[in-house]
Amino acid sequence: MLEEVQSNYGRLKLYINGEYVNSKTETWGKAYNPAKDEVIAEVPFSTKDEVRQAIQSAQEAFEKWREVPVTQRIQYLFELKNKLEEYSETIARIVTQNHGKTIQEARGDMRRTIENVETAIAIVYTLAKGEHLDQVSQDVDESTVREPLGVFGIITPFNFPTMVPFWFIPYAIVLGDTVVVKPSEITPVPMDFITKIFEEIKLPKGVINVVHGAKDVVDELLSNKLIQGVTFVGSTRVGKYIYENAGKYGKKAIVQAGAKNFIVVMPDADLNKAIPSIVSAFFGNAGQRCLAAANLVAVGNVYDEIKRKFVEASKQLRIGYGLDENVDMGPVVTKDAKKRIMSYIDKGIEEGAKLLLDGRNVKVPDYPNGYFLGPTIFDEVTPEMTIAREEIFGPVASIIHVRDIDEAIDMINRSEYGNAASIFTTSGYYARKFRREVNAGNIGINIGIAAPMAFFPFGGRKESFFGVLHGQIDSVEFFTDKKVVISRW
Ligand code: NAD
Repeated sequence: MLEEVQSNYGRLKLYINGEYVNSKTETWGKAYNPAKDEVIAEVPFSTKDEVRQAIQSAQEAFEKWREVPVTQRIQYLFELKNKLEEYSETIARIVTQNHGKTIQEARGDMRRTIENVETAIAIVYTLAKGEHLDQVSQDVDESTVREPLGVFGIITPFNFPTMVPFWFIPYAIVLGDTVVVKPSEITPVPMDFITKIFEEIKLPKGVINVVHGAKDVVDELLSNKLIQGVTFVGSTRVGKYIYENAGKYGKKAIVQAGAKNFIVVMPDADLNKAIPSIVSAFFGNAGQRCLAAANLVAVGNVYDEIKRKFVEASKQLRIGYGLDENVDMGPVVTKDAKKRIMSYIDKGIEEGAKLLLDGRNVKVPDYPNGYFLGPTIFDEVTPEMTIAREEIFGPVASIIHVRDIDEAIDMINRSEYGNAASIFTTSGYYARKFRREVNAGNIGINIGIAAPMAFFPFGGRKESFFGVLHGQIDSVEFFTDKKVVISRW
C-alpha cells in the first residue's frame, strides 16, 4: 500500500533506471498548493548529466524491452491499469492539491488517464500489425513490419498532470519503445506518485524514466542523439520552439499547443440544456483547459437571453478549495497566472469591453491566501480586442454578438488558433455547416468541451498544433516505423 496524500512531499527525486535518485542540481523550484499558497514539494531542475543518464538508461532498456513479447508487454499494462484504478482517488486528491482543480475534475482526469492505458492495450493486437501481400511480382512477396524506434521524450504542461503524459506513455511502451518523461515543473507531484506504481508493477528498469526541470531538460531531450522523437503539449510559444528544434535535430515531433476556443449559440438552441454545458466549458478547471471556451458568440436575437442566463448561472458557482466536495471552481495554478489573468481583465476594460461579472475580488474565507478568481464575463467584445484574440487561460469569458452563422464561422476561421469550436443549435443544417466549414481540430455539436476519447486522435489546427500526427490513438503511427520487406525464395 502506498502512502496517502501528504501535506509536504519534500525534495522530489528523479526516477532513472528504476531507481530513485537524489538530484545533484543546485537549482530547485517549488511546487505549491494554490488554494493555500503553501509549498508542497521542492522540484529539482535536473542537471544535463542526469538527463543524459535517464536517456542512456532508456536506451539500454529499449534493447531488452523490444524483445519482450507483446503478449507479455500488455500484462504490465493490465497491472498498470489495475494499480491506477486502485490509487485513482489518492492520485486525484494529489492533482487537486498541486493543481487546484476540483476533486470531481481530478477524478475525471483519472478516468481519462486510465482510458489511455485501456486503449493502448486494445489497439496493440490490431493497429500495431503490419501488412503483407503475396506475389507482388513473380515469386516475390512484400510486407511491412511496424517496429519500435527507441527512446522518446515526453514533455507535458501543468494543467493535466496525469492525463496528458498518459496520452503518450502507454502507447510508447506497449509498442516496445521506452520514455523519458519531463512533467511540468509547476505540477510535478502527481507523476512523482505514479512512479511508485511503476515500481509496484515491477516494470523493467529504464522503460519509463522521470526527470524534473524546464528548458534545460527539454533542450537535452531535443538534441540528444539517442532520442528518436518528442511529444510536447503546452503553449504555442514553447511549442514552436520545440517543433523548430525537433526539425533541426531530425526528431519526430507531436506538438499540441495553445488555444482560443469559441462557443456559438444559435437562436434555435435549447438554452436550458446548453447553459450548464456552456458554464462548465468556460469555467471548469478555472478556464485552464486547452479546450476551455473563451469566446461566447451569440447569434442574432439569442443575445439578450443567453447573456442573462450565462451570467446568472455563472454567479452560482461556488469557489473554494477543490478538495471540498461542494466546490465548483478552484483557484488558478500560480500567483503569476493570477497576475497575468488580472492584467488581461484590465486590458479588456481599457479596450472598451463591458464587465458584466467581475471575479477579481472573490473572497474565500477559509483560504485567504489562495490564488482565487471568480468567473469573469465581458460583454460588447469585438474580435479585434486583445481579450478576444489571445489565450488568457483563466476564468474569463468574452461575449461577442454577431448577425448570423456565416459571421460566426468567419470570425472563428480568422482566429490564429484552431483547437476547438462548439455550436449549440437544434438545426441539423447549422450543425452540419458548422462541422464542415469551421477550421478547428475538435468540433462540438451541443457539447461544450469536445474532448476526444482516447481511441480517437486529439485534434488541433493552425497555431494550436504542429506536426502530422496527433496524441492518443495516432501514437501508433508516431511510436513505430514501418519497415518494408520484399522477399523472393
Ligand atoms: P508551457 O508551454 O509553459 O510549458 C509546457 C512544457 O514546456 C513544460 O513542461 C515546461 O517545463 C516546458 N517549457 C516551458 N518553457 C520552455 C522553454 N522556454 N523551452 C523549452 N521548454 C519549456 O505550458 P503550460 O503553461 O504548462 O500549459 C498551458 C498551455 O498548454 C496552454 O497554452 C494550453 O492551451 C496548452 N495545452 C494544450 C493542449 C493541447 O492538446 N493542444 C492540452 C493541454 C494544454
